[in-house]
Amino acid sequence: MVEQDEEQGEQELTRWAWVEIDTQALRHNVKEAKRLIGPRCQLMAVVKADAYGHGAVETARVVLDEGAKRLAVATVDEGIELRRAGITAPILILAEPPVSTVKLLVDYNLTPTVDTTEFAIALGDAADAQGKVADYHLGINTGMNRIGILPSQIIEFLRAIDFHRGIHLEGVFTHYATADEPDEWDFRQQLERFQGSVQAIREAGFDPGIVHSANSAAIIRYPEAHFDMARLGISLYGLHPSSMTWGMADLQPVMSVKARATFVKTPMVGEGVSYGLHYRTPGGRQIVTLPLGYADGMRRELSGRCQVLIGGKRCNQVGNICMDQMMVEVVPSASLLNPVDPVEYGDEAVIVGRQGDEQITLDELADKLGTITHEVAIGFGHRMRRIYV
Ligand SMILES: *Cc1c(COP(=O)(O)O)cnc(C)c1O
Repeated sequence: MVEQDEEQGEQELTRWAWVEIDTQALRHNVKEAKRLIGPRCQLMAVVKADAYGHGAVETARVVLDEGAKRLAVATVDEGIELRRAGITAPILILAEPPVSTVKLLVDYNLTPTVDTTEFAIALGDAADAQGKVADYHLGINTGMNRIGILPSQIIEFLRAIDFHRGIHLEGVFTHYATADEPDEWDFRQQLERFQGSVQAIREAGFDPGIVHSANSAAIIRYPEAHFDMARLGISLYGLHPSSMTWGMADLQPVMSVKARATFVKTPMVGEGVSYGLHYRTPGGRQIVTLPLGYADGMRRELSGRCQVLIGGKRCNQVGNICMDQMMVEVVPSASLLNPVDPVEYGDEAVIVGRQGDEQITLDELADKLGTITHEVAIGFGHRMRRIYV
């Protein structure tokens, strides 16, 4: 990630390719999630992977201001980054980190997910050594088989660590493998196992604390999975987890990707474009260079298969996408029905987002790549500077 100065000049571009983050859209999506979960359920904003490429610190500040109560990240380093930026809200780490990190967790007041007794005891020892009590959340494996303790082992686990004064069970959770899939059977099975586990914890005399299970898809589709808290990831950024939630939530995309033309020429018929010269121009067309490439998240597999918006029109990307640059083709026409002005040096191009009446979505790129929007958004978050508007 590019270091962003706190002082003025923060929004000044040193490069004609950037990511725009629409903070009003972010606020809108928090409001929409709060509407969906209702007043008795807390909102946890998932800002792992640099907030899915949107910038963890900046995103965290906006969503906490809009009423999210807690944050979640994937790694200890991600948690420390937020703490160093002065964020004091509770931060959950969504999987058990290496046991060697327990002191850092206590030092930075980060709440880990725990699913082994060894980790729980090491965490308790580290907290106790500083005269503190460390909160943790117990991850329960109800069927995804990624992390978490099996339902049949929970009570044994809780009894084994009950003696320790250095740890406190702040919450219990599970994660669904199929909340965004058409078929509900596996989801129902996981939900039932989770409800059974929470009930067993209570019956054994333990307080499960904050009970949570829903990711974006379950927040939108399954109110019965909301419990005390909901973990909002992809839909915080205005994206649907899958086509299953289309029309069920009012989301506004937060990320746009933009660039300016750094070079414009009109090569003669038969001239090639980019590495390998695989694309040959029929002539009379402008070849416009944009200064972003696969090192910026513009995946090379998209070469010759995607479009960008210039002058409010869709233009084909042509030739191989390079590491730092790519070319698009513009067909100027004098036709009154479909006029396209010639492109000039410095004209703006939209790779993701709106221009005029046209829009290119992260979904469109994800579909072409055979992946999900999460992966495409994160790709754009690495090298380009982000501007918060
Ligand atoms: C990433 C993650 C989420 C957020 O999921 P989305 O589908 O992006 O909403 C929630 N819970 C856990 C455990 C996760 O790892």
